[in-house]
Amino acid sequence: MPHANLSSGTLSSLLGTYNMAAVSMRYSHFAPRVYNLCRSLGFESGKIMPSRAFCSDESQGYPIILLAKHFATFPFNHGLVGGIVATDRHGPHAQHGKDLFIIQASHVGYDPDSKQFGMYRRLQTSQQNVTSNCGKICNALEWYLNEYEFAQNNIFLKYENGKHLVVIDNYLLHLEREQGLFLKLDHFIDVDNRGMPPLPEVSLSTAKVFIATKELVNSLKGVDWRADSQQAIKQYLKPELFYFKRNISQHAEGRDHLEKNLLPVMPYIVNSESPALTAAQANTQIEFDRAYRSIAQDPAYKGKNVLFISGLNVDISPRKEQLFPLTKFIPWAAYIHDENGQQQIWEQSKLYEKLMQQSIENPDQISIESEIEVMQNTKEIVLPF
Ligand SMILES: [Zn+2]
Repeated sequence: MPHANLSSGTLSSLLGTYNMAAVSMRYSHFAPRVYNLCRSLGFESGKIMPSRAFCSDESQGYPIILLAKHFATFPFNHGLVGGIVATDRHGPHAQHGKDLFIIQASHVGYDPDSKQFGMYRRLQTSQQNVTSNCGKICNALEWYLNEYEFAQNNIFLKYENGKHLVVIDNYLLHLEREQGLFLKLDHFIDVDNRGMPPLPEVSLSTAKVFIATKELVNSLKGVDWRADSQQAIKQYLKPELFYFKRNISQHAEGRDHLEKNLLPVMPYIVNSESPALTAAQANTQIEFDRAYRSIAQDPAYKGKNVLFISGLNVDISPRKEQLFPLTKFIPWAAYIHDENGQQQIWEQSKLYEKLMQQSIENPDQISIESEIEVMQNTKEIVLPF
């Protein structure tokens, strides 16, 4: 099975296929349902090793506690920061259980008071501050959002002497840059066959003025081309008009893996209403496609029952009287193979349907408090040194 190498066009069409609100469910319902789903697939009670590929953020603790409660064991850790799957841990995970469940989820905060995604109240900070969440994703996005904002504010449109003109800042015309936001210039102006811009109508001190292509004029329907003043392109700088180059490590599961995942769809992310949400969603979709292939191919999982689910953890910020987030899970897709090697992929609607068929009652769940009490009351074992 080859590694997927999806084009940005394929990825951007994928973004639109992720249903959100209609299929979201609170973790206190998701955890028993996914346990019962495992049981319905023939997984044996007491022999299932759950594993999670979550971000390192403390907000991911509540889902982990619920998974521990319902699977009656602490989940194996399969996750790198940002919600990336550490595929080199497949072997140890496979050895730790007869039947194996893996969940991968990127996460995004949600502040119910401001109704904003990407924010989360940190109860343990001195002022219970609201900060970015997922911090790893938001940090990675910052550079791209700045580049995008600069371009939005430094491309101008104007109509003069019967001509539709576009004024482009020299920085954006500097094609030798190693990184930055790059315009798809042929969408703006008539370039030559090497993609180079024509001689400008006018060269200004920091920008150049070109005649806009008919396609650009026709595509910018809402723009008021005024004779008297020029206007910045702002919201009309759509994802189809640009791309990013960024010097990042291409090392799989390395420091920049998250950015590597997001780079092809970054124009859609920076242009979306909630970039932190769109980025977490895209990462989940890209990680599912990558990780399922590694699970399907890994000899350690051969001959075993495996269920792999990807989705999005939405960390609803705790209000002042709450200790944990009211996390919701938004399932994306699942991969299943059984001990006989039968493989299936469940797309989002099928996965949701399968989860909703399951009861939220789980007779096998444990009381974490009483299990801790058992350990506290057990006679201490003295180590031999
Ligand atoms: Zn995070």
